Amino acid sequence: MAGAMQASALKITNLIDHAAREHGTREIVSYWADGSLTRSNWAEIGLEARKFSQALHRLGMKKGDRIATIAMNHAHHLISWYGSAGIGGILHTVNPRLFEEQLVYILNHAEDRVLLFDKMFTPIIEMLKPQLKTVEHYIQFDGEKAEYPTFRELVEAEDGNFNWVDIDENDPCGLCYTSGTTGNPKGVLYEHRSNVLHALTEVQPDIMDLATRSVMLPVVPMFHANAWGLPFACAAVGAKMVFSASNEAPVLWKLIRDEGVTHSAGVPTVWLSMFADMDANGGDYGKLKTVTIGGSACPRFMIERFMKEDIRVAHAWGMTETSPIGTAGSLPANWDELSFDEQVDVICLQGRPPFGVELRVIDEDGNVAPRDGKTSGTLEIRGPWIIQRYFRSDEDAVEEDLWFDTGDVSVLHPDGTMQITDRAKDVIKSGGEWISSIELENAAVGCPGVAEAAAVGVYHPKWDERPLLLVVKKPGADVLEEDVIAYLADKVAKWWLPDEVKFIDELPHTATGKILKRALRDEYKDYKLK
Ligand code: ADP
Repeated sequence: MAGAMQASALKITNLIDHAAREHGTREIVSYWADGSLTRSNWAEIGLEARKFSQALHRLGMKKGDRIATIAMNHAHHLISWYGSAGIGGILHTVNPRLFEEQLVYILNHAEDRVLLFDKMFTPIIEMLKPQLKTVEHYIQFDGEKAEYPTFRELVEAEDGNFNWVDIDENDPCGLCYTSGTTGNPKGVLYEHRSNVLHALTEVQPDIMDLATRSVMLPVVPMFHANAWGLPFACAAVGAKMVFSASNEAPVLWKLIRDEGVTHSAGVPTVWLSMFADMDANGGDYGKLKTVTIGGSACPRFMIERFMKEDIRVAHAWGMTETSPIGTAGSLPANWDELSFDEQVDVICLQGRPPFGVELRVIDEDGNVAPRDGKTSGTLEIRGPWIIQRYFRSDEDAVEEDLWFDTGDVSVLHPDGTMQITDRAKDVIKSGGEWISSIELENAAVGCPGVAEAAAVGVYHPKWDERPLLLVVKKPGADVLEEDVIAYLADKVAKWWLPDEVKFIDELPHTATGKILKRALRDEYKDYKLK
């Protein structure tokens, strides 16, 4: 017997329709690369998305076609997401900070037909253009018209009288490439259904706690796992959104204070520069109430600093392959009984999975590890917004029963809280035992005078590998090697203490702002420890 409720598909076009209809006046603010600020709202975004669909239709785009963007966060980028979905298209966000070969590979592999870009990336476009095989239309997102047609021209030529193309909830609507550990980048193909379920999850109090009253400034770029799905989650509840094409700390603080930002989200390095700016120039946190920090492990001092200001830290873990929310630092039932330090201990862990996501840890022998807070192994995940197969691949990326191996090493605690101890390839193996590079780094950045730190395994004749800690000092600081070691002494096991602390001018970062461990491992693997 069939159920007797309505079959109503879960589509992101329904999200924008809902936001435009029910929360039409809720603002969408954009700070642009030229320093200007514009205001729109969900109703206008909804209308312009239809106009952009019409424009794409006029350009001959059809269901399943890929439309690429190389752009920062702003309202035009947001409109293009929903407008592409409206013709059944697939919006492909491209990370402008990738290397030339990766950009060429990704755009050709995706077979993008349209490429929308910010004016500031024109040099990248000029460099790529002769190498791109499928792009037919180049459209400039912002600024005055130069050589290319602009987004505004395209949209303003339409009337918005357009019905979304008929699509199924399992049809794809988004594409994002992740830099795999080996070989070429791999595409993750998001669906309408997976994005809607992810959005409905994300707004929950235990995850990002978003509501109509919220004012969200995603610092995470829209090309990094869909800005963690926030443009969909905010549409679901009609939150105000503040976009910034600049990631400069003074710009972000001004937006936070002027626009009444209550929620923000970004990787830890963003907050490092925000704190440095606040320490140098003063200022307050405005109405900030919740910050979601993820993408790399959030250091303890950062969590403490926010919590002392009564700002909740939602420490989240996820991957491009997981849409990206896998876990978030929800507060356990006994939260109010915990001391401040115990509360910080909880938030330092990566949190618990929301409904829909299942986790398990596989130990070295291939068995499912107990949830004892001790046994570590590779973390596996499954659920409706977790990848099954990479774009244009012939085989599934998952094992039996849909478990996806994340490549992260973790521990599950008895209450289901997950703790990442390392990435499989970053673990330092000393005398057959594992040393967590993440724990070493996060303890080290709490040391006065230390701005950033990275721990890498260096060849050692007796122990196989020993930790070398690479440290960037804060400007003007005169911290010494023995200060760092003394600081770490009561924070990690004695045998984990780095054999050497080496001060360097800067650390390399990935395109998403994480420390580029691969480059450091290559550079220092044969380093002669003192
Ligand atoms: P990339 O490989 O380009 O970094 P992702 O942005 O998808 O791509 O990164 C996902 C990885 O980032 C995870 O597998 C994990 O190693 C790391 N990560 C994400 N969030 C956290 C966190 N809160 N704590 C520790 N590591 C994290």
